[in-house]
Amino acid sequence: MHFDIDPADLAFRKEVRAFLREHVPADMAERTRSGFHFLREDQRAWTKILNQRGWSGQNWPLEWGGTGWSPVRQFIFEDECFAAGAPPIDTSGFKMIGPIIMAVGSDEMKQQFGPAILNGDVFWGQGFSEPNAGSDLASLSTRAVRDGDEYVINGHKIWTSYVESADFIFLLAKTDPEARHRGISLLLVEKDAPGVTIRPIIDIGESHSLNEVFFDNVRTPCRYLVGEEGKGWTYAKSLLDLERAFSAEWPRNKRNLEQLRNIASRERDGAGRLIDSPGFAARLAQLEVDLQALEWLTLRALYERKGGTDLPVGSLLKVRGSELLQKIGEMQMEALGDYGAYFYPDMHREDGAAALAVPGPEYAPGIAVDYMYRRATTVYGGANEIQRSIIAKSFLEL
Ligand SMILES: Cc1cc2nc3c(=O)[nH]c(=O)nc-3n(C[C@H](O)[C@H](O)[C@H](O)COP(=O)(O)OP(=O)(O)OC[C@H]3O[C@@H](n4cnc5c(N)ncnc54)[C@H](O)[C@@H]3O)c2cc1C
Repeated sequence: MHFDIDPADLAFRKEVRAFLREHVPADMAERTRSGFHFLREDQRAWTKILNQRGWSGQNWPLEWGGTGWSPVRQFIFEDECFAAGAPPIDTSGFKMIGPIIMAVGSDEMKQQFGPAILNGDVFWGQGFSEPNAGSDLASLSTRAVRDGDEYVINGHKIWTSYVESADFIFLLAKTDPEARHRGISLLLVEKDAPGVTIRPIIDIGESHSLNEVFFDNVRTPCRYLVGEEGKGWTYAKSLLDLERAFSAEWPRNKRNLEQLRNIASRERDGAGRLIDSPGFAARLAQLEVDLQALEWLTLRALYERKGGTDLPVGSLLKVRGSELLQKIGEMQMEALGDYGAYFYPDMHREDGAAALAVPGPEYAPGIAVDYMYRRATTVYGGANEIQRSIIAKSFLEL
C-alpha cells in the first residue's frame, strides 16, 4: 500500500518538531515519559502553551477556535508530541464532550465551555459506567428527575478516570426509567456540587487514576442538559465512536517498542545482549511488523475517513492497537528480568520518591507500572469482545 505524503505535511512535521523542541519543558517531558500517570498540572500548563500557539484544539474546526487540521496532520502532531514527551491533552474535553457540545449544545453552553476547554481551564470526568452497566450501558440506573429548573441526580458511577482532578463530569442518567435507550439523557455536573462523593480505586500498580462517584440528591441546572432530553444515548454513541477512533494509540505503541529495543540492547542474556539472542530477536521483529501494520491501518482509516466509510474503523483500530500494546508490555517485562518483579510505588505520590532509589535500571519503575495499567487497555473504551462483535456484524452484514 502506498500513501502519497503531501510535501506540505512534511514541512508541517518539521514546524511542529521545532516548536516542541523549544516549548516542552525538560522536567515535564521526563515526567511524561516516566510511564507513571501524567500530572494534571502538567496537562493544564501544556494546554495553555498550545493554546497560545492556536494548537490546543487539534481536532476542532476553525470556527470553534481549533486548528482545522486534516486527520493526517492530527496524526503527525500526535506522533511528534509523543516523541517529544509532551503531556497528553485532555481526551475527555477535546475528543469527547467538546465535539458533542459544539454539535448539539446551546449557544450559552458553547460559550461557557468551548474557550475554557481550549485554554485548559476546565477538565472532565466521563460518568458512563456503573457497577451493573458497562458493556450493556443502556441498563444504567442513575436517575435524573426534573425539579423546576434543575435536575436532581441519584446514582453510582464507577471507573471514572481522573475525575479527582477534574472540574465537571458529563454523565448519562435516566430521565425516563420506563424507556430503555430513549429514556437516557446527557448532563453536565460540577464535580464539587453538594452530594457528589468521590471514592478512589487504587489500581494493580498502586496508582490512583480511577474512582467511584456517588450522586446523592445532586442538583444541576437544566441549562446543563446537553442537547435534548432523552437523546443522550444517540449522543453517547457518537461520543464513544470518537473515543475509539483514536484508540489505536499508534504513537504510544511506537514509543514503547523503541523502549523495548533500548532495554533489550542493554540487558544481557548469558554472555551476549538480549537483542542478539535469536529467539528474542525473532519475536521483536514480529512486533515491528505488527507496528508497521498498525501505522498503515491507522493511515488508511484517516484517508478513508476523508471520503467517508461505513467500516467499523474505530473498533478495528481499538482491537489491534490495544493488543499490540499488551504484547509489547509483556516483552518489556520479560526483558527487565528480575527488575520486572519489583514493586515500584508511583513516584508522583508523596511517598513515591522511593521509586527513584530502587535498585535496577532507571527505566524499570515506569515500564512495570505502565505494564500493569495497560492490562486494562483491552477493557476501557469498550471491551475488545464487544468490538469484535461490532466488526463481525459489520462484515457479515448482520
Ligand atoms: C482503566 C479503566 C478506565 C476506565 N475509565 C472509564 C471512564 O473514565 N468512564 C467510564 O464511564 N468508564 C470507564 N471505564 C469502564 C469501561 O468502559 C468498562 O469497564 C467497559 O465498558 C466494560 O464494562 P464492565 O467493566 O462493566 O465489564 P462487563 O461489561 O461486565 O464485561 C465483563 C466481560 O464480559 C465480556 N462481555 C460482556 N458483554 C459481552 C457480550 N455481549 N459479548 C461478549 N462478551 C461480553 C466483556 O468483554 C468482558 O470481558 C474504565 C475502565 C477501565 C478498566
